[in-house]
Amino acid sequence: MNALRYIEGVATLRLDESLCTGCGTCREVCPHAVFGHAPGKARLADPGACMECGACALNCPEGALTVSQGVGCARAIIHGWITGGPPSCDCGGDGSSTCC
Ligand code: SF4
Ligand code: SF4
Repeated sequence: MNALRYIEGVATLRLDESLCTGCGTCREVCPHAVFGHAPGKARLADPGACMECGACALNCPEGALTVSQGVGCARAIIHGWITGGPPSCDCGGDGSSTCC
């Protein structure tokens, strides 16, 4: 999904492949197709698409996924989507708004 993306390279999503059994649950629950097809193991096919919703980590039966849920700024993503520019909420991050 290219329309709703946060800043590349900042997602907190991590996969511990040593714990993964390849059950496929993460791929089923992820709304942004972050996980790819790989026999026996999950694979982060498009980590930049992660919106840090937390669904994969909450549903992984092996605890192989971690993500700081809610760190991604949905306002920035939607603003970038509407304007066609990069993700930016323009709030300044100073705590004076309901955003960052
Ligand atoms: S839900 Fe967990 S165990 Fe299952 S494929 Fe994904 S990372 Fe691996
Ligand atoms: S946190 Fe949400 S968007 Fe990110 S990989 Fe997990 S399910 Fe997909």
